[in-house]
Amino acid sequence: LQRDPEQKEFQEAVFEVLDTLTPVLEKHPEYIAQNILERLVEPERAIQFRVPWQDDQGNWQVNRGYRVQFNSAIGPYKGGLRFHPTVNLSVVKFLGFEQILKNSLTTLPIGGAKGGSDFDPKGKSDGEVMRFCQSFMTELQRHIGPDIDVPAGDIGVGGREIGYLYGQYKRLNFSQNGVLTGKGMTYGGSKIRTEATGFGLLYYVKALLEAQGDSLNGKKVKISGSGNVATYATQKAAELGATVITVSDSDGFVYDPKGIDYKIVQDIKEGYRGRIKEYAERQESATYHEGSVWDFDVAYDVALPCATQNEISLDEAKMMQKDGVKYVAEGANMPSVPEAIDFYHEHGILFGPAKAANAGGVAVSALEMSQNSERLAWTASEVDNKLKEIMTNIFKASEKACEVYDLGKNYQAGANIAGFEKVATAMTAQGLV
Ligand code: NDP
Repeated sequence: LQRDPEQKEFQEAVFEVLDTLTPVLEKHPEYIAQNILERLVEPERAIQFRVPWQDDQGNWQVNRGYRVQFNSAIGPYKGGLRFHPTVNLSVVKFLGFEQILKNSLTTLPIGGAKGGSDFDPKGKSDGEVMRFCQSFMTELQRHIGPDIDVPAGDIGVGGREIGYLYGQYKRLNFSQNGVLTGKGMTYGGSKIRTEATGFGLLYYVKALLEAQGDSLNGKKVKISGSGNVATYATQKAAELGATVITVSDSDGFVYDPKGIDYKIVQDIKEGYRGRIKEYAERQESATYHEGSVWDFDVAYDVALPCATQNEISLDEAKMMQKDGVKYVAEGANMPSVPEAIDFYHEHGILFGPAKAANAGGVAVSALEMSQNSERLAWTASEVDNKLKEIMTNIFKASEKACEVYDLGKNYQAGANIAGFEKVATAMTAQGLV
């Protein structure tokens, strides 16, 4: 870690995990002898490449592409691609590192990776996005494959981008295979993959609340973001009896005390790539506000951050407590700063960390890989039932680790330990790799 002191996001993600692993290391001295931690924080491979493309005006543009293949101890590398101007090596490494333990928690045989580019799809034409994706895949295709590394979507990479990336992969490799997940229904995609992270988050929250003898029925929920995760978290929260009172984007947020209608969000974001303020123009009960949704003072019970990293500061965590929040579960990756997480623990706010709570997306991606290998397509209810079971089991595995290591209700530490134990066992079995 001393080699990369400037990689702030990566350091934050690593320390969040290392801080919780002491009890496991005490129980397993062989992990220390075999230097597991130092090996775990060093990616097996980090690829950086030039992505040249041409805009609609004929200008030649260049972006930077990345793929960090972090750990393959338990299966082929798996993790999304993010297209956003904030993407750099530190961000990709933090996401790839998180992905190792998250993928382990799903119990499916997938290793950890992440990738992306500082390209911003926002405001670009379909033609520009297609030319960018084709150029990005022209390099990436050398490094991936259905048994090697299977990327998926993340911020800025949805169905449109996956389609263009897949088309180019196929063209260059003369093969039809499940090299990407999040594909469209007409060419090998899985039912429920679009909804999986948001639905999975709510299945996790349901299990978390039930373990406290509580339920989502009648709860008020704040959600941030209005992308893929936020939209389907909003849908499932309402189906489970909660009222979602906010959604947001990077400009501002919408407050609707009657409950956000996910179909309007879906239409704005997926239908015509609009901005969330248009929601308030379409729904009388809603108002639009600039700034962060976490600074908005209103009573509620459950916070589900679904936008991006470090969106919740310590002051915003304090405001949550004042507003009556009892549960925080992370749809986004690392949305709470470390001081906010400490505050949750110190003040009895039960916390579901990203690597457990948002694992539903990658879990269904792995189910998409299975369907592609079998050349079969499962029904929506088959996939949804498996997703429910996986998310409930992730909560139970974290809860069990809390019992075994005497961690109370620190489900964050429980998730880290449950995910780590499997990876460490696999790394130990495979020797000095
Ligand atoms: P989308 O691109 O679909 O949506 C991202 C949403 O977050 C948008 O509303 C966007 O607003 C907002 N956002 C992005 N950056 C910022 C920022 N700096 N400040 C405020 N708002 C911001 O992405 P996803 O929904 O797929 O991903 C959201 C989070 O969930 C990410 O952390 C991602 O890593 C995580 N995740 C996603 C999974 C998936 O399956 N998609 C799986 C597991 C985790 P705007 O349009 O203004 O940029």
